[in-house]
Amino acid sequence: MTSVLPSTDLATDLTGRRIVTEVPGPRSLALHERRLAAVPVGVSSMLPVYIARAHGAVVEDVDGNRFIDLGAGIGVTTIGHTDEAVVAAARAQLGDFLHTLFTITPYESYVRVAELVAERTPGSFAKKTVLVNSGAEAVENGVKIARKATGRRAVAVLEHAYHGRTNLTMAMNYKASPYGLGFGPFAGDVHHAPSSYPYRDGLTGAEAAARTIGHLEKHIGAEDLAILVVEPIQGEGGFQTPADGYLPALQRWANEHGVVIAADEIQSGMGRTGAWFASDHFGFEPDLVFFAKGVAGGLPLAGVTGRAEIMDAAQPGGLGGTFGGNPVAAAAAVAVIERIEEQGLLAEGRRIEATLRPALEDLQRDFPVIGDVRGIGAMLAIELVQPGTKEPYPAAVATVSAYAGQHGVLLLTAGTWGNVLRFLPSLAITDEQLLDAVSVIREGLATLP
Ligand SMILES: *Cc1c(COP(=O)(O)O)cnc(C)c1O
Repeated sequence: MTSVLPSTDLATDLTGRRIVTEVPGPRSLALHERRLAAVPVGVSSMLPVYIARAHGAVVEDVDGNRFIDLGAGIGVTTIGHTDEAVVAAARAQLGDFLHTLFTITPYESYVRVAELVAERTPGSFAKKTVLVNSGAEAVENGVKIARKATGRRAVAVLEHAYHGRTNLTMAMNYKASPYGLGFGPFAGDVHHAPSSYPYRDGLTGAEAAARTIGHLEKHIGAEDLAILVVEPIQGEGGFQTPADGYLPALQRWANEHGVVIAADEIQSGMGRTGAWFASDHFGFEPDLVFFAKGVAGGLPLAGVTGRAEIMDAAQPGGLGGTFGGNPVAAAAAVAVIERIEEQGLLAEGRRIEATLRPALEDLQRDFPVIGDVRGIGAMLAIELVQPGTKEPYPAAVATVSAYAGQHGVLLLTAGTWGNVLRFLPSLAITDEQLLDAVSVIREGLATLP
């Protein structure tokens, strides 16, 4: 682990937005034509500009246009694109070995990731970790493990949830379109319970939890429920942030009834919210934590960390997979976690919120189309509604996000009704870049009728 990347290889000259062609430009359009012939339409792209280089919070396309990246590949490059320590760790591993398969002949970095994540997930109990390739695969494994540990059948999730695109996780998603439509039949025994969505339900945490629990007891029965999976802050659903007390009340109920309670922290975890895991903000100690997206700086890695006695329920050979915990991805993950610690990057999530939230609240004062500003740390969102109502206004989101793309800002959408703009910048974004991006969003909002 000695080779250090010469910094001239990193695109450190990328510091701000710069638009030099139409967006998409001619080279992107030419690539897009090839792509349309070669890649199915089911794999869509929000903005078909083809990326050539990236660093920190800026990406550059093949036409030389530069974009301030408010999405970080959906919260993956959490510590910034091409962080030099992460790139160096991956490069060093590339020269040592690329693959052995941990279930044939193991290696240290897998174990190190397991130790580092266990120390940082909520709860001081003994924990173990299995590494896999994708978020959906982590969710699948969490459900397998919980069923084996409890001997029970049913799976419960919350309204507005998103958990992935595999067969089981399609059944766990709230939104049929586009994630499930036409792809059934789906896995059985997956049940959707009401969530906490303070902007729309007006309930306290205790009231919302009573509603969720009442639904689970009536609809499934605690004694048949293996696992309840919740996103502490919902991702694709629109960054719904539960009312205080909601998650601890679900936890108490689950603990009392022998139900495994799992936090899907795939989008909200790994330093995204100014804490290691969003659960930390709510006093929530889940039995299992699912992580993926931000853990390895852009390389594919995911996992389940949880109570040792639950994790050990699966028989030898019952967990694993060819690429799970790939050595390069695991080396990158160790570097990401050490980097967050050494550079105090959790504070950057709080700094981003301190800059971005007031800027978004200013926008809300000027544009009544913004119904709600919510989220924590570098995971904030605005929900757009028809002014004076709470009626979702997805056309406004589409307009503002398209305007942003044209003017050098990558801005992601979300929400059950497609009416949420979400901000998931990397922790490397500067206040100047953030405020510049907000000024573009202000212009975009001003174009609304
Ligand atoms: C992205 C996401 C997933 C699925 O992860 P993949 O790596 O895309 O399979 C699951 N849950 C949440 C909360 C996510 O944001």
